[in-house]
Amino acid sequence: MLLTSFTVEFSPAGCCRNKGPSLRCLALLDQNVSEALPYLNAVLGGYTYIKEPPSLAFHYSRGILVTVDADSIAINCTKNPTEAEEILAWLQREINTAWEKREEITPKYTAAPWPTPADILRLLPKTDCGQCGLATCIAFASTAAEGGKVAKDCPVLPSNAQKELTAYLSRFHFDRQ
Ligand code: SF4
Repeated sequence: MLLTSFTVEFSPAGCCRNKGPSLRCLALLDQNVSEALPYLNAVLGGYTYIKEPPSLAFHYSRGILVTVDADSIAINCTKNPTEAEEILAWLQREINTAWEKREEITPKYTAAPWPTPADILRLLPKTDCGQCGLATCIAFASTAAEGGKVAKDCPVLPSNAQKELTAYLSRFHFDRQ
């Protein structure tokens, strides 16, 4: 097992995902996982990947951005310590599994392509009705492109457009929930 232990720190974070207080979680890893990161990137499909020093970032779920580098994991905008600890436990398993299966995985040193707000906006009603909690459809499209909204967050989106938007976003976002 590559990653066996880490210590966790929490600090307050401001974000648009949670109306209430949110936390930033930083896990300081006791083992260096840099060699596992290209394999983890291949499995998870990171939003960004930096080759040197290795680091990848991806969206775990709506608005939760996770960044992994050689000796730390940062989780932004988590609701509470329990949610962050669940993500850390899952990520520890993913890192260790990717490392154990590295001979079966082609390492990936590039980032995934990003969704574009323009492509998302094309699928929205463009009525700026505000029912999603944002003032405009453009704001929704920008937020969705960053992983902060999904198709069902637009309550007036017809079901066919909802399916199309979900299919489009699933090409980019890693989203476990
Ligand atoms: S609910 Fe849908 S149509 Fe209304 S502003 Fe939000 S994205 Fe646009």
